[in-house]
Amino acid sequence: MSLALVWLRRDLRLHDNPALLAACEQHSVLPVYLDCPSEEGDWPPGAASRWWLHHSLTALADTLQARGSRLIIRRGDDSLALLQELVDETGATTVHWNRLYEPAIRARDRAIKASLRDQGLEVHSHNAALLREPWMVKTQTGTPYRAFTPFWRAARKGAFAEPRPAPGALAGVAEWPPGLTPDDLDLLPKIRWDKGIAASWTPGEAGAWQQLQTFLESRLKGYDARRDLPAIDGTSRLSPHLHFGEIGPRQIASALQGLPHGDDRDSFLSEIGWREFSHHLLFQNPEMPDLPLDRRFEQFPWSGDQDAALYAWQRGETGIPIVDAGMRQLWETGWMHNRVRMIVGSLLTKNLRVPWQRGETWFWDTLVDADLASNSMGWQWIQGSGADAAPYFRIFNPVRQGERFDPEGEYVRHWIPELQRLPTRHIHAPWQATGEELRQAGVRLGRDYPQPIVDLADSRKQALDAYAAIRTA
Ligand SMILES: Cc1cc2nc3c(=O)[nH]c(=O)nc-3n(C[C@H](O)[C@H](O)[C@H](O)COP(=O)(O)OP(=O)(O)OC[C@H]3O[C@@H](n4cnc5c(N)ncnc54)[C@H](O)[C@@H]3O)c2cc1C
Repeated sequence: MSLALVWLRRDLRLHDNPALLAACEQHSVLPVYLDCPSEEGDWPPGAASRWWLHHSLTALADTLQARGSRLIIRRGDDSLALLQELVDETGATTVHWNRLYEPAIRARDRAIKASLRDQGLEVHSHNAALLREPWMVKTQTGTPYRAFTPFWRAARKGAFAEPRPAPGALAGVAEWPPGLTPDDLDLLPKIRWDKGIAASWTPGEAGAWQQLQTFLESRLKGYDARRDLPAIDGTSRLSPHLHFGEIGPRQIASALQGLPHGDDRDSFLSEIGWREFSHHLLFQNPEMPDLPLDRRFEQFPWSGDQDAALYAWQRGETGIPIVDAGMRQLWETGWMHNRVRMIVGSLLTKNLRVPWQRGETWFWDTLVDADLASNSMGWQWIQGSGADAAPYFRIFNPVRQGERFDPEGEYVRHWIPELQRLPTRHIHAPWQATGEELRQAGVRLGRDYPQPIVDLADSRKQALDAYAAIRTA
C-alpha cells in the first residue's frame, strides 16, 4: 500500500472527516498536524484558542493512538517545507486535507497544492466544515447573497450530504517519523488564568458529542424561546467544538433529523445557517475582518479617548451590570452568551464609540470559539457596517436589554456578586437606586462597583449625530 499524509487542521475528529476517509480507502495513513501560526496573517490563534487547541490535539492524539495510529506534530513557519520533509522522510505519494476559508489560509493552501502537484504528488482537498461550499450558494443572477434570510432559504434547499462514518481501520507505517507532543507547542498560558475555562469545557471529539447529546436531550425543546436568556443554559455551546472541527455541521443537521420540536429544530439549524453565512461572507469579502463592508464607516468619528473606555470594558468595570457580567463571563469561561455579545458590542462601538476592530481583537484573544468569519461578521453586524447588519440607529439600551432578557437579574448576580443583594428593580441600573437602597444592599457605588462610565442617553445622541455625519458620505 502507498502512503498518504492527512494534514489535519481545524477538522480534529475521526467521524465525518472526508480527508481522513479518502486517505484510508487506498493508503496507509500518516495523520499530521503542523503548527505554523505565522501563516495565518494578522489573525494567528489567540490565547484562549491556543488553550483549546492544546487539549483538542491531546484528545485526538490519544484517540489515534488507541487505534494503532499516531498524530505526527511538527512546528515551523512554512507548512510546505514541513510537508516536503515528511514526504521525503516517508515516501508518501498523496496528501489530503479538508478546506479552510480564511483568506490567508486559502492563499497558502492554493500555493501548497500547486507546488506539491508540480513535484508529482497527488493532492486532494475536501469539505468538512460547511453544509454548502461558499461558492455554491448564489442568487439567480449568479451574485452572492448579502442578506441572511434569502441566503439560508437557498442554502437549505435540497438535502445536506449525510455525514460519513469514522474509518474502520487506520493502516499505519512500519516506522513512524519523529514528531512533537502538544506540550512541546507551548500553547498553554504560563500564568494559569485558565482554571475557569478548564472547568467549563471538554475539548475533543468525545466532548463535542457529549455536548451535542446533552443539548438534544435536554435543551432543544424550548430552544427558540430560551436561546436569548443568558442566565440559563439554553444554547448548545457547540461553537468552539465547531470551530476546531471536533464536530461538523453535517453531523449536527443529521442528528436533528426525525427529532420532535420542529420550530426549535428549525431555529437551531438556522443558527448553524448563520455560521454558514459568515463563511460565505468572508469568502466573498476577504477584507471583512479589517475593513467595514459599508465603506462610509471608514470616516466614522470615533471617540478621541478610547483607551480608558476599552480597558474598563475589557475588565467588566463599565458600571453597566449586564455588560460587565458578559465581559466577566468571557474572561472566566472563554465564552459569552450571544445576546450579551450583542449588548457589549453595542455599548463599545456606539455609546463609547470605540472602533469595532478593537472589540473584535479582544474577542479574538479571549473567546475559545474565536472564529474569523463569525467574529468579524458579528462585530460588523453590531456596528451597522456589515452585510445584513442591524441599522446603525438601532442602539441597544443595555438597561432595557437586561430587564427584558435577564428579568430577575440572575445572570448579573452570578457574574457580579457585589450586586447580589440589590433589589431586582435596580439590578440593571444600580445608579437609579436610592442611597438607602444601596446601603441596605451593601453597595457603595464608585467603590464596590463602578459608577457608569458613560451616560447612556447622551452617548446615544452623540452616536446618532456621528452616524448622521457619515450617512450621506
Ligand atoms: C460580536 C459577536 C462576535 C461573535 N464572535 C463569534 C466567534 O468568534 N465565533 C463563533 O462561533 N461565534 C461568534 N458569534 C456568534 C454567536 O455569539 C456564537 O456562535 C454563539 O454564542 C455560540 O454559542 P452556542 O454554541 O451555544 O450557540 P447556539 O445558539 O447553540 O448555536 C449553534 C451554533 O450556531 C452557530 N451560531 C449561532 N449564532 C451564530 C451567529 N450569530 N453567527 C455565526 N454563527 C452562529 C455557532 O456555530 C453555534 O455553535 C459572535 C456574535 C457576536 C454578536
